[in-house]
Amino acid sequence: MNSEKENTDTRSKEETITILCAKTAGQYQILKINTLQNLKKKSKKQKDLPFELTLWNFSAFALIAKINMNIRAILFLILVFLAGGLFFAFRVSKQGNQNPGKIQVATSFYPLYFFTTQVGGDKAQVFNITPASAEPHDYDPTTKDIAKVQDSRMIVLNGGKLESWGNKIRDNLKGSKTLVIVAGDSLATRELSENGKKIQDPHVWLDPTLAKQEIEKIKEGFIKVDPANKAYYEKKASDLEKKLDQIDSDFKKGLANCQQKDIVTSHAAFGYLAARYGLTQIPISGVSPDQEPSAQKLTEIADLVRKNNIKVIFFESLVSPKLSQTIASETGAKTMVLDPIEGVAPQDLKNGVDYIKLMNQNLENLQTALQCQ
Ligand SMILES: [Zn+2]
Repeated sequence: MNSEKENTDTRSKEETITILCAKTAGQYQILKINTLQNLKKKSKKQKDLPFELTLWNFSAFALIAKINMNIRAILFLILVFLAGGLFFAFRVSKQGNQNPGKIQVATSFYPLYFFTTQVGGDKAQVFNITPASAEPHDYDPTTKDIAKVQDSRMIVLNGGKLESWGNKIRDNLKGSKTLVIVAGDSLATRELSENGKKIQDPHVWLDPTLAKQEIEKIKEGFIKVDPANKAYYEKKASDLEKKLDQIDSDFKKGLANCQQKDIVTSHAAFGYLAARYGLTQIPISGVSPDQEPSAQKLTEIADLVRKNNIKVIFFESLVSPKLSQTIASETGAKTMVLDPIEGVAPQDLKNGVDYIKLMNQNLENLQTALQCQ
């Protein structure tokens, strides 16, 4: 009798647990039938609990189990609605960052950002990957930058190895909707020798005639992704190119009659500009500002400054002026800014400083430094 009671108690617990664990209505129905049959058998053997009472207990329990399942179903539905709502809110906020109706474009660094905003006008929303005040030679895009590029309709790169990450991002974008424009493609023809190696010089944007060719490529990109506004982009590009023609003409005239032709620059950014206007560039650092010179090279530059009676050593705004100052103080020369326009500090941007103003400022400083008439 004792062993039979223990057996019955154990079975009852098993049934309870099984019903609680039943996850679907189908399972629940099968369990209900099985359990009823078990309870009927049990009541015949068991005298201490009448069948009706046991059945009533089961019905109450079954009802609780059923309610429990309904609550689970309701909770599941609430979760589905919440997840859907969150997804919708995320989509809306993501679209909120972008401007609907405008072409999303990414650019790798400041001059291309400037050209692209000018050509795109109010049809484009442009995102610059290298922060305005950072040096593009050694900037690495963040995961957020890459996601933004993938969301863009077009990306404008300089090429000529300015962007160390350029090839990687081009591989990532293969087969995507993002059009890749390499504005300096085929323009970066100059090479410099650095530590016995030939290095491609990417600084084409500092020659206004080459900058115009970059603008042409950007314009073609816009027309490809938004052909309906072809005439608009053509007009905007033409307006900007006229400003560059003016700069070219001012540089030619402004640098035609000078006492000096040598420019000692912070890094080797002015090769194309020097070639265009008949100047000789003597860079302190290499093609990239982080290519620091040896002590021997610094001595050679200082000797050349004395020998050629160079009056000004140039430095640039985004790089430490220390090396330029060292040579200047050793040789009695002055220091002045010659801006490679690789970035613009946020405060200067706010004050309306742009590529055109910086080119004009560069011309003024060159004229002073080279004693031009
Ligand atoms: Zn540079």
